[in-house]
Amino acid sequence: MKHISAADISAKVADLCIRACTVLPPDVIAALEAARDREESQLGRDVLSRLLDNARIAQEDGVPMCQDTGLAVVFVEMGEEVRVSGGNLGDAITQGVREGYEKGYLRKSVVHSPLDRRNTGDNTPPIIHAEIVAGEKLKIVVAAKGAGSENMSRLQMMSPADGEAAVKRFVRETVEQAGASACPPVVVGVGLGGNFEQCALIAKKALLRRLTDSSPNREVAALESDLLELINRTGIGPMAVGGRTTALAVKVETAPCHIASMPVAVTLQCHAARHAEHTWE
Ligand code: SF4
Repeated sequence: MKHISAADISAKVADLCIRACTVLPPDVIAALEAARDREESQLGRDVLSRLLDNARIAQEDGVPMCQDTGLAVVFVEMGEEVRVSGGNLGDAITQGVREGYEKGYLRKSVVHSPLDRRNTGDNTPPIIHAEIVAGEKLKIVVAAKGAGSENMSRLQMMSPADGEAAVKRFVRETVEQAGASACPPVVVGVGLGGNFEQCALIAKKALLRRLTDSSPNREVAALESDLLELINRTGIGPMAVGGRTTALAVKVETAPCHIASMPVAVTLQCHAARHAEHTWE
């Protein structure tokens, strides 16, 4: 049995919140650089250069890369052999988010209720997705999800008879409708299968994958690559000024589903593809 203290978890989650909001992961930087080097539109290239400058300054000065520092979405993989001492996991994560957003001078963007719109004042509660896994490890990933791109996400309960062509159309239309609102170039997370809530969750999890990877399933990998090409042919471009770089990557996750269902969820991640992780092993 591995013991991890609640205080240790809170301190690490606070760090992850600050790191996610100030440091873009290396694969995202590399993807933006590659896009800048191959972008055909002069204006598009300029925008990509500004985004890279922005990311560099944020990291060097330890300031948020965007004014919207997001809702903290926390993905947890907790080993069956892990025990949290001195508190419970949910409270420890929430306290970490509270401390991180305060200490990092990050904007507090959460309201108590969608109706009364009163700010909670400390960016809590986070949204926590926890999974029990075998062993003694605890992995926590914090994603700071801004509203601009999140608001452009869509889910549709398709019929199996609609087929792959309809899925592609739905994904492309989602990116087109989002336009500048999603702050492209985007990373597109697609959930295919499962049921209503599972397809949204796997779409969101898809955004955590490394931008350079592709699905281990050949059919799904081909769909990812077709979708990326389709989206980049729309001409929306970086920050919607026109160009070939509308998406940096498309990640598709699938799940078994009912014979009569084909749920499809599309979640968009803006160019500020912010997430940071820590594993206790
Ligand atoms: S969509 Fe992303 S880059 Fe645009 S304002 Fe929101 S967090 Fe910032």
